[in-house]
This record gives sequence, structure tokens and C-alpha cells, in this order.
Amino acid sequence: MNKAGVYVHIPFCLQRCPYCSFQSQAIGSLSKDAREELFSEYIEAVKKEANLWQLDFAPSTLYFGGGTPSLLGAHLGPMVRWLRERFALDGGSEITVEANPATVGRDDLVSLVQSGVTRLSLGLQSSHDSLLTTLGRLHTWSDFLRTWSDAREAGFENISLDLIYGLPGQDSCLWRQTLEDVLALRPEHISLYALTVEEDTPWAALAQDIFPLQDDVASEYELACQLLSERGYEHYELSNWALPGKESQHNLLYWTGGEYLGLGAAAHSYLGGSRVWNSWPRERYLAQIARERRPLNWRWALPQAWGSWGGLAGGEKLPFAARRAEALILGLRLVGGVDLETFSAKWGLDPKWQEQIEILVQSDLLATEPLRLTPRGLLLANQVFLRFLEN
Ligand code: SF4
Repeated sequence: MNKAGVYVHIPFCLQRCPYCSFQSQAIGSLSKDAREELFSEYIEAVKKEANLWQLDFAPSTLYFGGGTPSLLGAHLGPMVRWLRERFALDGGSEITVEANPATVGRDDLVSLVQSGVTRLSLGLQSSHDSLLTTLGRLHTWSDFLRTWSDAREAGFENISLDLIYGLPGQDSCLWRQTLEDVLALRPEHISLYALTVEEDTPWAALAQDIFPLQDDVASEYELACQLLSERGYEHYELSNWALPGKESQHNLLYWTGGEYLGLGAAAHSYLGGSRVWNSWPRERYLAQIARERRPLNWRWALPQAWGSWGGLAGGEKLPFAARRAEALILGLRLVGGVDLETFSAKWGLDPKWQEQIEILVQSDLLATEPLRLTPRGLLLANQVFLRFLEN
């Protein structure tokens, strides 16, 4: 049986960061009681949704993302236990919770470990308080250090840190310092994301001149590649580095075509070659669950049968050519690349790709055997991917 996972979306944040377009609701102004009510209602809905699915897969990963899952506080541990039982996740499963240093306390961390959470993903972003303020983050570097030592003391042996590069006001010295500060802690996993400002966010209205030039962003990425490799981290995916054996098993599912069920408002699923996402906003999601209906976005409620899913609703099967191109692109995100012989045995090769591959190899963007991004290709990955989408 292929590997599979479950993703749970927790759509709450204390406040919205000005560059982020993830689906979440700011609840910082709500009273404690109002938040408790919101959380209880949402958790019950997610449990109901989990019971509406009859799937013939055995997940080996469970991932709580958001939003800010750690905001659920004492509610989170029992929710993890319930889902572990519902999906028969055994002791060897990878169970990850994303946490924001400003919203997770020592008791919560102990409760998460006791509930079977094996991996903590902390949204640090920078070790400089001035940059954290620019980003609209609520934590400081010292808040983070407290959370870090609480997490280690609670028993977390697998911690991932997220950082952002390409920030306004961040030069290569500040970036190097952030990397050094983080490397001194020796986290098991590090994710680095280039700042992307989405159209529907407050930062989209800012003058573009305040953002660094592409060449400077590329230099920050190259510096990270060099430093992390020198310190023993394996660069296994475009944006992800890990100590040996500490790659994110859940995220590997996304890049290797594994199936996953997304639970919660706006959560995405990929099942049986079909991609669906749940309703948003949260009120619409809750209303559908209250009627015992899977909360599928209407755009995907097309008439093709979902066969083995037990079919209460419809879904869209991606056309074969789109699935094949997507499988190749996702595989190329992995630094180890794609073995074309194995890929071809499963998918066949689009005859038009050969010419594209030759052009990309000549441009020093791709290397062969296995087919993979070169160091230059890692910097220009989107241009490489477009070649396979357009052709
Ligand atoms: S970046 Fe994270 S904490 Fe900030 S609004 Fe987006 S999901 Fe919430």
C-alpha cells in the first residue's frame, strides 16, 4: 500500500501577518471564553468530518498546520489522541504540529509529547527582533529561545525551524547571523522560504523598491546552501534541509505523489488522482459539516464518479497529462531528482519533454541521471517547471 497522510488545518492566528494569505482568522481580540467556544466547535466539526470519510488507506503521518495550531492550547493533545485512534496511527508514525513561539507554553508542549506528537515545527522566521517586528510577528528571539528549551525539555527530539529570506531590511550580514544563530541550536530540520507577497495582502500595496533585488535574494539562498551543507545538513528539497534521517515524512508525501486527506476548513486533499479542497470561510465549512456533508468546495463538485470513495459528493479527476507533468515537477523539487526510467515505467514520458530537457541541460538548469536541478536550476526552479507545464 502506498504511503499516505492526514493534514489538519487550524485556521486561527492571534493576528494576521501583513504578507500572508493563508486561510486563517485573527482571533487576538476575542475573549478567552469566546476563543474556547470557537475551538470546541471547530474541533468537533473536524472530528465529524473525519468520520464522514471512508478511506481504504492507512496513513503513516499526521500534520497539524495553519494558521497557528498551537493556539488550541490544551485542546490540541486530546485532538491528536482522537485522530491517532480514528486513523489507527501506530507508534512509528510521524505526527507534526506547527507552533508559533508566541502561543505555546511549556505545559502545552509536554501535553503534545504525551499525546504522541513526534515533531514540532516552529515558525521562527528570523533571529532579529527588528525583522520580526517588520514581519508583524508577535514573538521575539528570546521568546523563541524559551520555547526552544521548553520543547527540548518536554522531550521533542525532532524540531524543524522555518526562516524567511529576501526580507526588506535584511542584508547578507543579518541573514548570515540568523543562520548562525539557528545552526548553533542544531535543529533536526530547517525550512527556508523566500518572501512572497501575495496579491491580496497589505504588503502588496507597498512600493516594490523596498524589497530586495532578485540577485540579492538568490545570494541569500546560495549562502544558506553553503552554510547548511558545511554543517552537515542534507539539502533534500528546494526549500528544505535535514540532518540525516530527519526529512519530513509528511511533506515527502506531497513531493512523491502520495495520497493525503485534508481535514478542516480550506484543507486540501489528494486522493485517487483527484485534488479537492474544503470550503472556506470557516462558517461555510461548519454549516456543511452540521448537515453531515463533506465540506467540499463547490468548484470541485463535478459529476465524475469518485468510485471507491463511497461517493456522497463529486470531485475532479485531473487529466492524465496534468497529473504526469505535476508528478515530474514535484519530483524535481527533490534535490535527488527523478529517475527517468522508474518515472517512465509508471507514467510514460511526454515525447515533447526530450527537447525541453536538452535545452535545460544546455542552459545548465538540469542535469541528467537522475534528472535533477543543477545549483543554477535550484535558483531558477520556477522557470524550469514552466517548461514542463507549457509543453
Ligand atoms: S504567517 Fe503564520 S502566523 Fe502569520 S498570518 Fe500567516 S499563518 Fe498566521
